[in-house]
Amino acid sequence: MKRKKIIAANWKMNLLKDDVKKFVSDFNKEMESIALSSDLDIVIFPSSIHIEMLREMIHPKVKIGIQNISKHEKGAYTGEISVSMAQSYGCEYVLIGHSERRQYHNETNEKVKAKLILANTLNLKSIVCIGESLDERENGKHFEVIAQQLAQCLSKDVIQKSDQMLIAYEPVWAIGTGKTATQDQAQEMHAFIRSELTKLSENNYTERISILYGGSCNESNAASLFSMPDIDGGLIGGASLSAKSFLNIIKSAM
Ligand code: PEP
Repeated sequence: MKRKKIIAANWKMNLLKDDVKKFVSDFNKEMESIALSSDLDIVIFPSSIHIEMLREMIHPKVKIGIQNISKHEKGAYTGEISVSMAQSYGCEYVLIGHSERRQYHNETNEKVKAKLILANTLNLKSIVCIGESLDERENGKHFEVIAQQLAQCLSKDVIQKSDQMLIAYEPVWAIGTGKTATQDQAQEMHAFIRSELTKLSENNYTERISILYGGSCNESNAASLFSMPDIDGGLIGGASLSAKSFLNIIKSAM
């Protein structure tokens, strides 16, 4: 079966208002000449403060996502953004459990699970990020760590809503380091993730779940990564900040 491909930009805490306008102007011009097929989604996760402006200006084929949501539905949680607020501003995607949130904001697997359940109730598409550290890989623990993250972050019900949940495999040692996983390392882990999802859900809905690769993916390595059978696109950090390189990555997925 044909799975949806997704090329997603994670802008993190980068780009000022004028930088976003410049990105949009460069990006939109070139997008006019690209014939996107319906099985490819392009998503941008900007800083929340840019969501409204970006949604109004960016090419209509681009979907908008939010980099994080609160685990609470609403109320006295200063500085937080709820999933229903994100939805009311037109976000269709939510990033959950990015390694930087795990590292700097104490985002545990339990919190990831709670956020995922909330996003699911509003039918937002969640990209759940998982990945092992360098130490874990070097000590041969990477499969064990990934299996544990999946088991603790996901429930059977969530996996079964296969059109709403995606996984991003982002080895922590590859994020922002310029050190990309090889296509074989990434493929091996993606195939493992799919088999774990099948075990957890006791079903093979998992053939429909898109699994993205993230970690120093750029214009030069994207095509070889995306050519692998279980790699259904990418979550792109640094290389998504320039319209030109993000567009080249999109083209390499077509
Ligand atoms: C990310 O933060 O999700 C990411 C993949 O970053 P980079 O592409 O910069 O490694």
